[in-house]
Amino acid sequence: MWFGVRGLRSVFVFPVLAAAFATAGRAGPAIDPVLRQYLDHEGFTWVSKRTKHFHLYFQKDSEAHRHISALKRSVEADRAHVLSLIGATAYDPPISAFFLKSGARMKDLVGVEVDGRSRPAQHAVFSVVTPTWLHLTHEICHEIASNLWGAAEPWIEEGLAVYADEGDNIYYDAWTLLNSGNLIPLEKLVNPDWQSTMYSADITYTELGGFVKFLRDRYGTDRVKQLWQAGSRSIPQVLGKPLAELDREWRESLVGQFPQPPIRHYRAGDVGFLMQ
Ligand SMILES: [Zn+2]
Repeated sequence: MWFGVRGLRSVFVFPVLAAAFATAGRAGPAIDPVLRQYLDHEGFTWVSKRTKHFHLYFQKDSEAHRHISALKRSVEADRAHVLSLIGATAYDPPISAFFLKSGARMKDLVGVEVDGRSRPAQHAVFSVVTPTWLHLTHEICHEIASNLWGAAEPWIEEGLAVYADEGDNIYYDAWTLLNSGNLIPLEKLVNPDWQSTMYSADITYTELGGFVKFLRDRYGTDRVKQLWQAGSRSIPQVLGKPLAELDREWRESLVGQFPQPPIRHYRAGDVGFLMQ
């Protein structure tokens, strides 16, 4: 849903220059003026910190504010993990990360009540922080992959972000869906029109995360990148088989991965995605 902000950069070229001069004395010239809509937003007082690749913004007296050191470490680790996952060696733009106290405050700031949000055209990511949620991998994946590889269909955008966030655990979660008969046929998700509101996000995000992991494991990062850039309709050309055959292959791989039920408790609380 963040696709709507694409193009803001070019629209803002002239206001940006004017705003840069107007605000330079207050916050320094390094702040991208497009971020002023958040930094100067009524009702928000930000505490800012920097790391090598991030500008971090915390609400005063927030959970995030109490975990600054952990968050400074985790965003850099998340960024390195995403670059490694997609086979990239460099990513130049500094990323601005805003940490919110609640979904309601997220809505105040970006207009939608969600736990996470990314606006790659602005190099800005947003996350609600709780004591058990101190990382931004999902949103950083959107930020980096979208800027390095370009725009993509939502199924692969979300699948890659979920896989980046969950790692290999996603396969067990997908296996659980398969085992309970809850996997949705891939043709319903892997197409240009799927949106996260169409089915239960608990199912679709987990399923797509598992499917993208399968694609990367079996066909490699370069093929995933090709699908990212050419879309789901290119699957027969890129992978040499139709989606229906891939659906069978990946279900077989799930069963093969876990011939016996694995000894691991289902982490129900971890898959309640409200992120986009
Ligand atoms: Zn997402």
